[in-house]
Amino acid sequence: MANEAKKPAQEVGKFQAIISHCKEYGFIFPSSEIYDGLQAVYDYGQMGSELKKNIKDYWWKSMTQLHDNIVGIDAAIFMHPTTWKASGHVDNFNDPMIDNKDSKKRYRVDHLIEGHAELLKADGKEKEAEELLAAMDALLAKDDFAGLKQLIEDNKMVCAISGTCNWTDIRQFNLMFSTEFGSTEASEIPPAGGGGANKVYLRPETAQGIFVNFLNVQKTGRMKVPFGIAQIGKAFRNEIVARQFIFRMREFEQMEMQFFIRPGTQKEWYEFWKAERLKWHRSLGIPAEKYRYHDHIKLAHYADAACDIEFDFPMGFKELEGIHSRTDFDLRSHQEYSKKKQQYFDNDIDPATGKPYGNYIPFVIETSIGLDRMFLAVLSQAYEEQDLSTPERPDSRVVLKLPASLAPIKLAVLPLTKKDGLPEVAERIMSDCRPHFRCFYEEKDSIGKRYRRMDALGTPFCVTVDHQTLQDDTVTIRYRDTMEQERIPIEKIKELVMNAIG
Ligand code: ATP
Repeated sequence: MANEAKKPAQEVGKFQAIISHCKEYGFIFPSSEIYDGLQAVYDYGQMGSELKKNIKDYWWKSMTQLHDNIVGIDAAIFMHPTTWKASGHVDNFNDPMIDNKDSKKRYRVDHLIEGHAELLKADGKEKEAEELLAAMDALLAKDDFAGLKQLIEDNKMVCAISGTCNWTDIRQFNLMFSTEFGSTEASEIPPAGGGGANKVYLRPETAQGIFVNFLNVQKTGRMKVPFGIAQIGKAFRNEIVARQFIFRMREFEQMEMQFFIRPGTQKEWYEFWKAERLKWHRSLGIPAEKYRYHDHIKLAHYADAACDIEFDFPMGFKELEGIHSRTDFDLRSHQEYSKKKQQYFDNDIDPATGKPYGNYIPFVIETSIGLDRMFLAVLSQAYEEQDLSTPERPDSRVVLKLPASLAPIKLAVLPLTKKDGLPEVAERIMSDCRPHFRCFYEEKDSIGKRYRRMDALGTPFCVTVDHQTLQDDTVTIRYRDTMEQERIPIEKIKELVMNAIG
């Protein structure tokens, strides 16, 4: 809604075009579409699941394989319900919401106010917008709901549907989904450890699976502080207003890493991970101006410093990744609730005392990125509509300029015709390359149409097998971004693609 005012219509149109492209080419479908879909839930198709997996692999490798002191785990989605009491989610994982009495439309209070600030900015009222946001932050920090409602009314913020300023009071809304565990016969199977109720939550973040396994991993992996635990997995949030395609979903995936450190070193490690994560984003070749930091003023209940890495999505700069200095809040709280010590013995010598640092509960720096948001960032950066018209004829193409390492298909092998032994040569190239990277064989349609289809899927390389191939064992290779073509020997194909995908 109002946030979109900040982008020119052409950019908003681009967002719609990307959504259609995702559906048309098998990247993303609405969930259970034959039943008209389920709001804010999406399925990744044959191309989307490959791209998503490649993003995951890129993150996983850079976090675990390239850092000797970070290991990965894969914890269950269901956790003992006390986990969420200890983490603060049962009591604090709320968003203030407000309903418009006329349209019955529900808004997240911060989104409503931020939307209004964007409208002010679009009107050139930069200063008023900043003052409004500062007032909102101050009221949110105090959970002053009456003050927030007053702010909405004083600024005459209206509902996008009814156009009225007729609002309910502001209420808290807990974002966790819950379900019944085991038999629905009351408390026949307690969740674990004997608690009476059998209500369990679908995890709203993957981080707690890491915290409750901190000692398991530290002991069995003989990990020495500082060290990290990484995890990729599903998270679920009953978002009040779920919109903007895969940007805000009710079921999504997170790639999180908790880095355990000595208390007192959190500032330097926070700065380290802030810089390191931005470096990771830029390593994909996405221009620096597409990213910016946003430091938090209102801190979550567990944090002593926090910032977002924001990305310039088609609908404007928005949070892509969070970096949080979580203190020892989580481990200390789990120690309290579980009555199990969550301590680490540090036998390094403290230069101040000449003695080992000894026992402590480690502090934690968290990096948390939404996989689906990263998918949207990569895709919206890659998507380009190009006008290729010449004076003789109109022409255009849609191309996904995906980094080769992330592209769902790396190489398309295209025999010029279906006869004269060309498919057989193409098949030999396929069997040479198939074990090393994802290839795609296509013999239908004209070569121009086949190139266009591969452009739309983001395939960086196409090779065409033609009659000259039969004579000199060379093929035409076509580069997606420049559309340039050259002849190369068949035996060079594999090496060229492998060099490009890294
Ligand atoms: P927002 O302010 O946008 O609701 P958040 O600050 O609550 O996000 P975190 O709790 O920090 O998000 O979660 C870490 C990351 O998980 C976010 O940076 C984002 O990439 C991703 N994420 C959070 N909520 C969603 C969602 N509903 N859909 C998709 N990704 C999400």
